[in-house]
Amino acid sequence: MAGAAGAPTAVLDVAEVAPGVWVHAGQIGDFSPENGGDLANLGFVIGNRCVAVIDTGGSRRVGAALLAAIRIHTPLPVCFVIATHMHPDHLLGHAAFLGEHPEYVAAARQGKALALRAAGYLQRQQTQLGADAAGSEVVQADHPVAGDATLDLGGRQLQLRAWRTAHTDNDLTVQDSATSALFTGDLLFRTHLPVIDGSLRGWLRVLPELCALARPDAPVIPGHGEVGQGAAAFSPEQAYLQGLATEVRAGLKAGRTLTEVVAASRMPADWSLVDLYHRRNVTAAYAELEWED
Ligand SMILES: [Zn+2]
Repeated sequence: MAGAAGAPTAVLDVAEVAPGVWVHAGQIGDFSPENGGDLANLGFVIGNRCVAVIDTGGSRRVGAALLAAIRIHTPLPVCFVIATHMHPDHLLGHAAFLGEHPEYVAAARQGKALALRAAGYLQRQQTQLGADAAGSEVVQADHPVAGDATLDLGGRQLQLRAWRTAHTDNDLTVQDSATSALFTGDLLFRTHLPVIDGSLRGWLRVLPELCALARPDAPVIPGHGEVGQGAAAFSPEQAYLQGLATEVRAGLKAGRTLTEVVAASRMPADWSLVDLYHRRNVTAAYAELEWED
């Protein structure tokens, strides 16, 4: 994503992972001038009538570069812009699509959660990106989804599901009827360490349902990391989260303080951004599990 002087490129690289289903692989990292906010995996699905976009990146410029990539592959209008959840690396590019006049779609619970965090997200993005943050804004959904919903693109439908609290309290998955390709948002992390901003127990509870949605021969597009296939794509994340719960419960049972549990926690191998997120996850898990029966 970074060109000379950290300027984002004008057109994102995208790959067709199933017929009519396109994915841009975000960089693994935190917001920086080097990556310009190009951190989350982004996608679009092309129907006979129109196009749906799934997540728009961490700045208006990333969103504009995604729109430019879409225009290489289809002249059809963008009728839906879907946010998989409230996190800024997934939706601060929304404003780039305003001229397309799409319906902005998100889990019903996103509105309130995002409204509370919007100013902080934008301030932090501005601090971390500088000039690359220009034009970014929080665009709230006008098409809230509670439970299940279907979007028609002409010749194919997208099945949307709003989940109980897991990665956040407003996670939404998108599955294409034509190919079974499944966009998980951050309910699935690969390579990038999973980050808990909702409920560890909730996340562990929804994982078997997510695995059941994933068809063995169909792509599973995580919020971060490489595209996988079928339920196996969830295994490393499930193992990490289960291990975290086991470790923190053992610490609580032994009467250890939060500081002691964090200090004793072994940094997990095989993941990126462990230094940035693992202790934070232990802290979140401790706060949650401390009160369980
Ligand atoms: Zn997230």
